[in-house]
Amino acid sequence: MISRNPRLGALKAGYLFPEIARRRREFAAAYPEDPAKPETRIISLGVGNTTEPILPHIDRGLIEGARQLGVPEGYSGYQDEGLLELREKISRVFYPETGGDPFSADEIFISDGAKCDIGRLQLLFGPDSKVAVQDPSYPVYVDGSVLTGAAGPWTGEGYGGISYLPCTAENSYFPDLSKLQENSVFYFCSPNNPTGAVAAKAQLEELVTAAKKKGCLIVFDAAYAEYIRDPALPKTIFAIPGARECAVEVNSFSKPAGFTGVRLGWTVVPKELHYAGGESINADWNRVMGTIFNGASNIAQAGGLAALSPEGLQEIRQLCDFYLGNAKCIRTALEGLGVSCVGGDNSPYIWARFPGRDSWDVFAEILKSCRVLTTPGAGFGPSGQSFIRFSAFGHRQDVEEACERLGKLGQR
Ligand SMILES: *Cc1c(COP(=O)(O)O)cnc(C)c1O
Repeated sequence: MISRNPRLGALKAGYLFPEIARRRREFAAAYPEDPAKPETRIISLGVGNTTEPILPHIDRGLIEGARQLGVPEGYSGYQDEGLLELREKISRVFYPETGGDPFSADEIFISDGAKCDIGRLQLLFGPDSKVAVQDPSYPVYVDGSVLTGAAGPWTGEGYGGISYLPCTAENSYFPDLSKLQENSVFYFCSPNNPTGAVAAKAQLEELVTAAKKKGCLIVFDAAYAEYIRDPALPKTIFAIPGARECAVEVNSFSKPAGFTGVRLGWTVVPKELHYAGGESINADWNRVMGTIFNGASNIAQAGGLAALSPEGLQEIRQLCDFYLGNAKCIRTALEGLGVSCVGGDNSPYIWARFPGRDSWDVFAEILKSCRVLTTPGAGFGPSGQSFIRFSAFGHRQDVEEACERLGKLGQR
């Protein structure tokens, strides 16, 4: 029989969310939910999955996209790099901060989502690349690097080939860039999952300056950009002059439009980007996408076009506002208990600190005493220890009920 890719065996303890699901099942088996007692129902503030229906204008775009496929004049097959109209619209709607020099359509690549693009981007860098992440971080940056071989061996704390830049209360969740190694790929997520922290303009300027000086490529993950409400906070790395020479940006309709199950995202790869040897990164990305990806669903793209119309953008705002309302409820409840938190104001995550405690223990305690499912911070990297991530994705009634139950934590 064939042998297994040894890198699969190098992935530590499986992916975080299956592990949480396993612990939930274990708990529910020991303390069953009783349909006659609503207080025994487990409420999840754990995963980053959207819960609310797609709003009507955007939904009609999807329906119309499907309908078009059933008539000769509307039918389309492979779209490869994505509908031209969608790429142009993304450039206009999401990158107005680029100083009158918009991205051309061939710098914007439509895909089936940001996570998938991150996995494919990792093919550009290969096993010998140096990798840096914010610590804590969204798991695919590290786990995908394990699969390509770039992460190196597990050392007990983390992977030897990855440099973890701590983002803690002490540095206001922005890493010390003097620790960024030369010529590395740096995954940077703002608004951040899991901390909910958003980098200020001056911090992103510092980031771009450091990346250019050190020959680093920033993979900027802007999946939560539409949750930013403070107009002083940049929604894209390309609001910073010089970013085109050192950054790609991945983004998605998943979290702003509820497209987690529809699947639609994009990556911006500026033509200014080159490897150390002078080759074009844009040309290589085009090549990789053409080789292992055959384009996003044309139904999803019709939905994306509807989402970028004035009515669609209004619905995006409305949906994000709804989840931000949940976030406020959670943050207020936690702060009422004296728990110190960050996030939830310009992001759908609240990062709560339980000093001196193990985050899997706090996770277990919240599950047992409140029957609320959360995400242990340690699952996102060594610096996540002693933190819990609360997700604002949930129905309002469930979130309110969960917030009320969290009061029990204070009664230990
Ligand atoms: C949810 C999420 C994504 C995934 O987006 P898809 O487009 O659904 O693949 C990417 N990055 C971060 C940080 C996320 O939280």
